[in-house]
Amino acid sequence: MLVLLCGRMGASAVWHSELQAWVAGKQYSLLVDWARDNDFTIWWLKKDQALQLNNHSSKILLTVDSCDAEVNGVQVRLLFPVLNRGGVVFLAQLDLDTTLQPILSPPGNRPGATIKSICLDPGHGGKDPGYQVGSYVEKRYTLLLAQELRQQLTRAGFKVMLTRTRDTLVELSERAVLAEKRNADLFISLHFNASPSSANSVQGSEVYCLTPAGAPSTNAEGQGAGAGSFLGNRNNEKNIFLAYELQKSLTQNLGVEDRGVHRARFVVLRDAVMPAVLIEGGFMSHPTEGRKILDPEYRRQMARAIVNGILNYKRVVEPSAKVPAH
Ligand SMILES: [Zn+2]
Repeated sequence: MLVLLCGRMGASAVWHSELQAWVAGKQYSLLVDWARDNDFTIWWLKKDQALQLNNHSSKILLTVDSCDAEVNGVQVRLLFPVLNRGGVVFLAQLDLDTTLQPILSPPGNRPGATIKSICLDPGHGGKDPGYQVGSYVEKRYTLLLAQELRQQLTRAGFKVMLTRTRDTLVELSERAVLAEKRNADLFISLHFNASPSSANSVQGSEVYCLTPAGAPSTNAEGQGAGAGSFLGNRNNEKNIFLAYELQKSLTQNLGVEDRGVHRARFVVLRDAVMPAVLIEGGFMSHPTEGRKILDPEYRRQMARAIVNGILNYKRVVEPSAKVPAH
């Protein structure tokens, strides 16, 4: 049963207007204030546990004490969990500013700044094979996907460059530098996943963008560690909107399981001066999805979904620009 929350939260908002909570040093804001400012109506889907927010164009699902959110049907991982204090719901200000707001009201490019050139970054290469499943190595399939994507993007009117065109090792720190040198407008790193310990159950796509300063990454190990600010943080808002459009297109057009939009401090994302994302296109370790990744026709479909996501992003950030024929 849907229980209307607005009345009760509205009453709370009188008491708590301008109220902000500090939890473990993080600034939280009243969800009801943000919802009102953005014309959202709020319901408890399950009392004190799950919420729905609707306005004329968007639908958001939130879960108390969880970072799992759904925005217009796409899984988006929040930086901090949703809090419920006696029926009053709080969301981290950093999530309102750098997760929800840029997806719902994407920032436009400055006049004349059109998206013409795209740098594709096939993950791994040379002595770095990436994931290895049986005799199949990730580096081979990221390059094959990049080559297919280059063809399709070129046909769609984009100028396309690759950080590697052969089975060679390109240092992580060089990849974003190459994109900058060649004046790329977008940077898209391509990877495939593997989960040998749960091969039969784990599948689907994920898209990563750079973690905002002061927030933890989904991937907290290795390159995900640290909380500093990097060059790539200048594009926080465009990064997440691009990641969202790509994940939406992959899940809707390819029908893969939606593992969500995530944040990480991968080297290639930290150093990018243009909007940048890292796509994990699927699990090589899954019996069905793994077989598909080896199939050129499936990679063609995946490339089409990525092109579609890029075109949707372009359409929104360049409202008056002409989109090249696809
Ligand atoms: Zn990889």
